[in-house]
Amino acid sequence: MTHSHFSEFYKKTKVERIKALLDAKVIQIEDALLLFENPALSDQLADNMIENQLTQYSLPLGVALHFLIDNQTYQVPMVTEEPSVIAAASSAAKVIAQAGGFKTHLSERKMIGQVALKDVPNLAFALEELASHKVAILEKANDAHPSIVKRGGGADKVEFRTIPATEHSPTFLVVHVHVNVLEAMGANIVNTMMEAIASFIENLTHGKILMSILSNYATECLATATCQIPLSLLKRGEYSGEEVRDALIEASQFAYADPYRATTHNKGIMNGIDATVLATGNDWRAIEAGAHAYAAKSGQYRSLSVWEKADNGDLKGSLTLPLPIGFVGGSIGIHPTAQFSQRLLSIKSAKELESVIVSVGLAQNFAALRALVTEGIQKGHMGLQARSLAISAGASGNEIEYVATELKKQTHMNLETAVSLLNSFKQMN
Ligand code: NDP
Repeated sequence: MTHSHFSEFYKKTKVERIKALLDAKVIQIEDALLLFENPALSDQLADNMIENQLTQYSLPLGVALHFLIDNQTYQVPMVTEEPSVIAAASSAAKVIAQAGGFKTHLSERKMIGQVALKDVPNLAFALEELASHKVAILEKANDAHPSIVKRGGGADKVEFRTIPATEHSPTFLVVHVHVNVLEAMGANIVNTMMEAIASFIENLTHGKILMSILSNYATECLATATCQIPLSLLKRGEYSGEEVRDALIEASQFAYADPYRATTHNKGIMNGIDATVLATGNDWRAIEAGAHAYAAKSGQYRSLSVWEKADNGDLKGSLTLPLPIGFVGGSIGIHPTAQFSQRLLSIKSAKELESVIVSVGLAQNFAALRALVTEGIQKGHMGLQARSLAISAGASGNEIEYVATELKKQTHMNLETAVSLLNSFKQMN
């Protein structure tokens, strides 16, 4: 389950880590060379990805280990600027792997497109017209993107919603079209379809088109990860397994009830999700927007995950959120590091990537809550924070380790202390 090549992975140098991945046959020699080179995007590629390109902005890509998901092991690429995220994900995944790993459940991969109408003169007439033209609406949507239909996907369901007037807004009539986007995230596919059906819908309803675009509230593309952890694996320091389980359940209940806590609880989940979404070349704003909307689906913003007691006394966790990520499309196919991430994961489909990402979110949540209800979050965090402070103070090479280690012993860990520790190290050597 856990590769022997990966023992004490975090203590290895970058070169040793790459070699361990190579020895474990997780990556091929071409990828090892790619990692040594620290490749940047070519200027030509960068210039074609966005407008007004000036330079590039780098972030570290690391690997989280020990993920056992639906009986498969995964080495998960994560891109983040935040210390501790990858360590926490790996450590939680290790415990959960010992408990049998993550189990995932995925809905179909459908995106919703919206055509919004205003000033509809007769709502009842418009709804009747729309209902009797569902097939024609679907046909026109599919005619606008025949290649997705040829691949086995396309628009397959139409729904209508009326958004009643409020003191700040008039009544809107909204046509929802569900589109099976197969291996893509689907934004462009859906937008093309919605723009293509807009005038037909306008003619049917005698209303005025306000806009035609996909919704990022991807409630037809949901991913769930669950895990069940026995008390023996929850024991931590002076805390018994039972104490950790009960405290985690209370932490989960608190995040369900209090939006101030739920926001931070969900931020911790997104620490893992965003990092993998980014590493695989996906649109993390789309995932963020959908996740937070889903967290507010009851009318109150709540936690995305739930931790509870299983019938046999184990701790049971589950996380559900919309995960409309792509395996193809957008910049995924042209970004060399996104391509590397797919090879590192050794995934073959968007669904498999969804399973990995939702599991990373649950692992991250478990790690954060376990730390919060036991030793506190700062202990782990400050270790890496100390290294950042040491570097900010001007330390390099072996000075970083010395300054970081000494900083962790101080009551006030700040830049001033880091500078003075660095100065005394320089005087000693
Ligand atoms: P693309 O426009 O790149 O479309 C994906 C293309 O991949 C399809 O058109 C299809 O082309 C091709 N393809 C090849 N194999 C498959 C397969 N098996 N399944 C599905 N498609 C396949 O990307 P998306 O439509 O996914 O849009 C994603 C991009 O849109 C992201 O970059 C996102 O940032 C951006 N975006 C997001 C918005 C939002 O979230 N609100 C709004 C606008 C843009 P073919 O069949 O012709 O070969």
